[in-house]
Amino acid sequence: MSFRDVFSAVSEHGPVASELEDVFELLAHELRLEILQRLWEAESDTLAFSDLFKQVDTRDSGKFSYHLDRLTPAFVRTADSGYALTFAGRDVIGAVLSGRYTAADRLEAETIEAGSCLFCDEAVTIRYEDGHCILECEACGSFIFRLPVPPVVLASHEAPAVPRAINDHLRLRVQALNRGLCKLCRGRVEAMLTAASAREPVAHNPDLDVTFECRECGDVTHLNAGIVLIGHPVVVATLFDVGLDPRTTYIWELTPLLDPDAALLEEPPRLELGFEFEEERLELVVDDRCNVVDYARR
Ligand SMILES: [Zn+2]
Ligand SMILES: [Zn+2]
Repeated sequence: MSFRDVFSAVSEHGPVASELEDVFELLAHELRLEILQRLWEAESDTLAFSDLFKQVDTRDSGKFSYHLDRLTPAFVRTADSGYALTFAGRDVIGAVLSGRYTAADRLEAETIEAGSCLFCDEAVTIRYEDGHCILECEACGSFIFRLPVPPVVLASHEAPAVPRAINDHLRLRVQALNRGLCKLCRGRVEAMLTAASAREPVAHNPDLDVTFECRECGDVTHLNAGIVLIGHPVVVATLFDVGLDPRTTYIWELTPLLDPDAALLEEPPRLELGFEFEEERLELVVDDRCNVVDYARR
């Protein structure tokens, strides 16, 4: 079964465990990973069969040829003058080399201070556990968020720069979801007010919970409606006018944005939000997909 077959199966019927296992089985081989790595490192996009063979750790051309064939067409494609990585091949080997999948358990699990708590103003901390960054406040016992983060995001920054890196990672994640892009498979994601769906909310205020679900792979993300709306022009303008620059303030410190008044209306489902800033109030009405349908600044 090729990767394409697996992918179309995933698209139509959701992930099929045995078919996903085939993909992993395909990659769980040292020589195949080495082939992908040599193609990744090649200065030109394409390597001729003989050049590729020279660079791998086997002198058995039959064995080499067999494993190269196994990687084609899912991860390697034949080009005019040799072999090149496919999109999936680049994605997989990039992830392996950056340690996205392998280095999580080797990461120093140090706890880092990351600004102040939106509930009590004391210091919040970030810790890394099982591939997730957990942001919480010890002083008031608040759990702020749990975000899946590739180990490379932490490994590539000194401790003082980690909160900024996590913040940027979160912002990118939110942007991608808002554009309807899945973080895992880049398939199409749809937003839904959780309270208007059959799902269980996870936010501290259930009315503020927004669920993003990927139609292709089924991946689910929950976000606070305030975070979902962070890129809307009227939100950016209001934040800027009250002296909050969302580019330089940690998302979890944009307190008025994360803890608005919220009222859920039915028929049609609408969420009314009131964001209180010092001398300014922003009111938004969003539909069940969390699209802004009305706004007012007072
Ligand atoms: Zn606190
Ligand atoms: Zn997906």
